[in-house]
Amino acid sequence: MKERQRSGASTDMKKSKSSHQWLKTHEDDEYVKRARAEGYRSRASYKLLEIDARFNLLKPGATVIDLGAAPGGWCQVVIEKIGPQGTLIGIDLLEMEPIPGVTFIQGDFTEADPFEKLLASLDGRPVDLVFSDMAPNLSGVKNIDQPRAAHLVELSIDFADQVLRPGGGLVCKCFEGDGIQEIRQQYRARYGTVVNFKPKASRDKSRELYLVGQNFSDTDTNRIESR
Ligand code: SAM
Repeated sequence: MKERQRSGASTDMKKSKSSHQWLKTHEDDEYVKRARAEGYRSRASYKLLEIDARFNLLKPGATVIDLGAAPGGWCQVVIEKIGPQGTLIGIDLLEMEPIPGVTFIQGDFTEADPFEKLLASLDGRPVDLVFSDMAPNLSGVKNIDQPRAAHLVELSIDFADQVLRPGGGLVCKCFEGDGIQEIRQQYRARYGTVVNFKPKASRDKSRELYLVGQNFSDTDTNRIESR
C-alpha cells in the first residue's frame, strides 16, 4: 500500500512537472503571443493564414465548412476572408463562443445526427472548401492514435465527396505514419493538385502536416480505383 502511494505521488510529481513544462513552452511560443496580441482565439489561426497565403483558397463569397472548429481560430480567419457574402458552417465536439457570421453545430462529426444537421444547414448549397483541423484526443499510444486520426481524415474525404462543387478544395490535418500513403492516394484520385504542407506555425516536433487538395473532380471511376 505504502509503495503504491509513493509511486502515485511520484507519478503526480512527474505529471505536474510535465504540465508545468508544457505551460512554459506554450507561454513562450511566438504564435501564442501573436494570437493574444492580434485577437485570434488560437495559435492555429496562423497555420490557416500560411496555408491560404500559399494556396490562395479563400475568396470573398465562398461557402466553407470547418470540421473541428473550436475554439474558433480558423473560423476567424475564414470569416475575414470570405466576408459578409460568404457562408461558414463549423462543427465541433466542444462548445464554441459565437462568432458573427458563423453557423456552429456542437456534436460529433462521426455520428449520424450532427452529420445530418451539417448537411441540412447547407440546404443543397455547393461547397467551395472543406477544412478539417480535427484531431482525436491523444492517448499517447501511437498504434491507437494514428488509426483514429486517419479515420477522421477518411470521413472528411467522404464528406467532401458529397458536398464539394467540382473544382473545390479540401484541407485536412494528417499525421505522418501508418495510413498516410492510403490517404494521399485517396486525395490524388479526387483532386487535380495534392500538396503536403507543413506550416511554420506547426510545431517542429509534431508529426502533423496538412494535405491540401485543389480542383476536386466529381468522377466516381477515379474514386473506385483508389479503394
Ligand atoms: N482549428 C481550430 C482553431 O483554429 O481554433 C482548432 C481545432 S483543434 C486542433 C481540434 C478540434 O477537433 C478539437 O476542438 C476537437 O474537439 C475537434 N474534434 C475532434 N474529433 C472531433 C469529432 N469527431 N467531431 C467534431 N469535432 C472533433
